Amino acid sequence: MSARVLIVDDLPTNLKVLEAKLLAEYFDVLTAGGGQEALDIAAKELPDIVLLDVMMPEMDGFEACRRLKAEPKTAHIPVVMVTALSDIHDRVTGLEAGADDFLTKPVDDIALLARIKSLVRLKMVIDEWHRREQTCDQLGVLDDDRPLPDEVKTTGKVLVIEKSTLRANKIREVLEEEQNTVVSAATSAEGFSLGMEDEFDLIIVSLQLDGADGLRLCSQYRSHETTRQTPILLICEPEEKEALLKGFELGVNDYLIRPIDGNELKARARTQLRHKHFHDRLRDNYQRSLSLALTDSLTGLHNRRYVTAHLESMIRQSLEKGKSLALLMIDIDFFKKVNDTHGHGAGDEVLRGVAERIKRNFREFDLPARIGGEEFVVVMPDSRLDVAVSVAERLRSKIAETPFVVSGDVEPIAVTVSIGVALTKASGDSADDLMNRADEALYEAKGSGRDRVVTAPVEGVKQLAAV
Ligand code: GH3
Ligand code: MG
Ligand code: MG
Repeated sequence: MSARVLIVDDLPTNLKVLEAKLLAEYFDVLTAGGGQEALDIAAKELPDIVLLDVMMPEMDGFEACRRLKAEPKTAHIPVVMVTALSDIHDRVTGLEAGADDFLTKPVDDIALLARIKSLVRLKMVIDEWHRREQTCDQLGVLDDDRPLPDEVKTTGKVLVIEKSTLRANKIREVLEEEQNTVVSAATSAEGFSLGMEDEFDLIIVSLQLDGADGLRLCSQYRSHETTRQTPILLICEPEEKEALLKGFELGVNDYLIRPIDGNELKARARTQLRHKHFHDRLRDNYQRSLSLALTDSLTGLHNRRYVTAHLESMIRQSLEKGKSLALLMIDIDFFKKVNDTHGHGAGDEVLRGVAERIKRNFREFDLPARIGGEEFVVVMPDSRLDVAVSVAERLRSKIAETPFVVSGDVEPIAVTVSIGVALTKASGDSADDLMNRADEALYEAKGSGRDRVVTAPVEGVKQLAAV
């Protein structure tokens, strides 16, 4: 894993020492001699992680961290504070300033690499979601509801696995002061099954558990879908550094060394919960944008973009199986008159009603979509022409037979549809050609009186349709 690390320290010797350690691990290293320089470089170079000295003249590390986190461009870059003192108060102030982690000087090599790797992994995940979100924007779906890091929740549901009831209760007390909901388990088996049953925002695992060690439990959590992304905080004794390193390799996110300081526990839990909620929001935003991008909001059917994206491969799959694929182009007759007579709102209700009847009339694996104002398409994979035509005919009559009930004082509105049907050529076909042929058939249906189904003539189809 390679990443760009920005080291900030007012003492050139400290910079050199850290730079050498990181270069030896193949990280790209940038350096800054003070707070302001760090902010400038971070904004320009967007490093993957920042190691920030606390004690610096002019602007100290806490202030620099606060400013990095306040700037939208750099807010998501993980910051590790490097403190000369092992003062708990200092650590907590750092985490409060928005720092994601801290290290104590002289910097321990194991801790340094473990923390950097864990944070770089986190940043890569977040970057990936940002990239996907940008793709959604490029697809034309803008979501105004962008997550801002300082709005993200820092409380949640926490699962604690600790064999000593006394210790578990102490942890619970501290976390509940922060309005977290805490569930605890005394064994790894119990902890595992609780983790599978419910969705937690943070899991705290004590390394020493009866029967199985805490690391095995962490690895189980990481290999199951429900808990794969849940942050894990490991609790260990000062002499368990080796196990800790293994823990980070397994994907543990952070650790606490006994004796646990309540404020440090709170601050670390908050940091992990903030990451979790931030990540969740990016993912939800993405999924929402994606579904907005591919669905028609009026009818809930897929939209033209979705059909365009899938039709080509649906055609290919049908042809590979030696089957033909049918495409129905459906257009409501004289729909403008519905709007003119009953208003746009009633028109919308009719559109929804037509969409509903279309949905009900097809098989699970057919693809109905609204591709324009009052134009629909249905793609029917593995379909013969005679079957497609009779399904189209059934739909046409279902729409014509029963007028659509709309709200208000309006009589049910009667509409009809015209349908053009086209079938793929056995010799191969393109999505565009198929759509065009269906369109031509639809045009013919309109021209010859509407409320009817017309089939596009295609060479070779008759033999295939008869198979
Ligand atoms: P034809 O039989 O030739 O298809 O006639 P038509 O009136 O259905 O066709 P035309 O394309 O002239 O008009 C379609 C109308 O559909 C015009 C537009 O106002 C209406 N329309 C398009 N989108 C919507 C919508 O989302 N809601 C409503 N209520 N009307 C829409
Ligand atoms: Mg129409
Ligand atoms: Mg039209």
